[in-house]
Amino acid sequence: MVMSQRKRETICVQGGWQPKKGEPRVLPIYQSTTFKYETSEQMAELFDLQATGYFYTRLQNPTNDAVAAKITELEGGVAGMLTSSGQAANFYAIFNIASAGDHIVSAATLYGGTYNLFAVTLKKLGIDFTFVDPNASEEEIQKAFRPNTKAVFGETLANPALNVLDIEKFAKIAHKNGVPLIVDNTFPTPINCRPFEWGADIVTHSTTKYMDGHATGVGGAIVDSGNFDWAAQGDKFPGLTTPDNSYHGLTYTTAFGPAAYIVKATVQLMRDLGSIPSPMNSFLLNIGLETLHLRMPRHCENALKVAEYLNNHPKVAWVGYPGMKGDKYYALAQKYMPGGTCGVLTFGIKGGRDASIRFMDSLKLVAIVTHVADARSCVLHPASHTHRQMSDKELIEAGVQPDLIRFSVGIESADDIIDDIAQALG
Ligand code: PLP
Repeated sequence: MVMSQRKRETICVQGGWQPKKGEPRVLPIYQSTTFKYETSEQMAELFDLQATGYFYTRLQNPTNDAVAAKITELEGGVAGMLTSSGQAANFYAIFNIASAGDHIVSAATLYGGTYNLFAVTLKKLGIDFTFVDPNASEEEIQKAFRPNTKAVFGETLANPALNVLDIEKFAKIAHKNGVPLIVDNTFPTPINCRPFEWGADIVTHSTTKYMDGHATGVGGAIVDSGNFDWAAQGDKFPGLTTPDNSYHGLTYTTAFGPAAYIVKATVQLMRDLGSIPSPMNSFLLNIGLETLHLRMPRHCENALKVAEYLNNHPKVAWVGYPGMKGDKYYALAQKYMPGGTCGVLTFGIKGGRDASIRFMDSLKLVAIVTHVADARSCVLHPASHTHRQMSDKELIEAGVQPDLIRFSVGIESADDIIDDIAQALG
């Protein structure tokens, strides 16, 4: 069967590792930094990118590559790589095609760590960002572009604003300006949303979340659709379309075709910055991925029950869950994530910020943790925790109300989760 025709359920279980005769059925952990060769010439060819093969785990490792291949197939891409965290994935995704003096247009609704990476750290490296309201018109968003703009970025389902990105709209604007659309697809995962089908060019993930699913390992991934024509925009992306002197003048687009972007990120950024996951963590991620297709529907089913319960509760001021009818983003969610969004919902309690904090402190089953999107229900107050470095104005722009509680509904019994909420509200 052609790989791309397989259903996502099958890819979750069997994608990536394809054992041959006598090889282990389960993906082995290649816990080795190095790989042996017989001649000096063989090794030299690897260093020149003239031959493919493993030589040092900072660049590539068979366990990591098998898991990257599974995620790539799930997204319907042509090439992918793992990173040691979601932060590293978003950093590499941008830094692979932008450097000092360049500019990026990004949706303002972002995970706090990503906002910090873009607005503070990348700014220090000379890359400027313009943050746009994701719900603005095409004409409004167009005004953010500059001649040195190199990409457009957004989260398909933003953490914690939970707005659904209009992927087609953003892809259209990006392509009109000759740049790729990069989306962070962490929350819906490819089980619920496949951004390449709507025009996105690059997808990133914090695999730490639903993909791992059990809060065992921090990790990230980048997948390329192979659709963006870098060579057609050669002036904008010289790093991909002109010779790289650190590899004897090799040009990525001519040498690697649709895999150019991922090969460059691997052989330049991994080589120099080294944010590689440990093979052990990739093994754990793979076990998580094997049940992703079973867990996501259950997260969505439980979250909808919790959202509806909260929506009808007299002490609750508001609820945000794009999977619930009446939500501001319900129509966009139906379009881009018809099978469900994810298990994360947001709400505020009458009485504001203080009441929200008292509620959280009263929960028994649901834990306060700096995490989201795993099997166990958990809760967080972004204004006090993940987004605490932001001013009130920046919080509002990022879609974070000061009273917003981010509730990550797990896969326990929905009845027990609701009972816990009921006693805490009481
Ligand atoms: N992207 C999104 C949407 C996230 O929610 C997170 C973390 O919460 C990240 C990226 C960063 O990922 P990590 O914590 O794996 O570095």
